[in-house]
Amino acid sequence: MTEPQLTTLAACTGTAMRLAKDESLKIVNIHGTQVVDCWAFNADDLEEWMSMPHTRNACRKLTPAIGESFVTTLRRSILTLDEDTSPGVHDTLIPCCDAARYKELGCEGHANCADNMAYGLKELGIDPPPPPAPLNIFMNIPVGPTGRLEIVPPVCEPGDYVVLRAEMDCIIALSACPHDIFPVNGAAATPRDVAYAVYPAWVGGAD
Ligand SMILES: [Zn+2]
Repeated sequence: MTEPQLTTLAACTGTAMRLAKDESLKIVNIHGTQVVDCWAFNADDLEEWMSMPHTRNACRKLTPAIGESFVTTLRRSILTLDEDTSPGVHDTLIPCCDAARYKELGCEGHANCADNMAYGLKELGIDPPPPPAPLNIFMNIPVGPTGRLEIVPPVCEPGDYVVLRAEMDCIIALSACPHDIFPVNGAAATPRDVAYAVYPAWVGGAD
């Protein structure tokens, strides 16, 4: 199979795309330090979306492992984690950053993942809903022994990637998180470009 062309998602920006059932999305952490917020909606019913609480319930852990699926608000598989070259540290607990969060932090008018999701969906002609809690790919939120959540840099190497396969026709939104206050996006707290590519459905063959 020919490798599809990687598309750059510039630091602090968002995009959205349609992903047909069995197509896959590769997301590459070019610099190893960048978090990517990811949303998935049923293309036929935007009121059904990839849900982090339902996913944690389904896989009985904080984050699905390779071969396991993220599920929707109706408990149906929507994305399966087919590949992950990173250590597998991703976050399902933290909401996306938004205008209210940056206002709290004293940075009004800051670029944010909620706006990036809305921008991406609008580009597809979709009226954006309030952002569900995203899958925060590469985000490192260790849970301490007292239950305290830490915010520490991703543990990826440059070039680490994940591949998510669509289990239904869906709309995907991505945001290269603009956070530059806490070390969400690396110890230098510097948002970076990432890249992504859509792979066609695997048509199979003898194996
Ligand atoms: Zn963010």
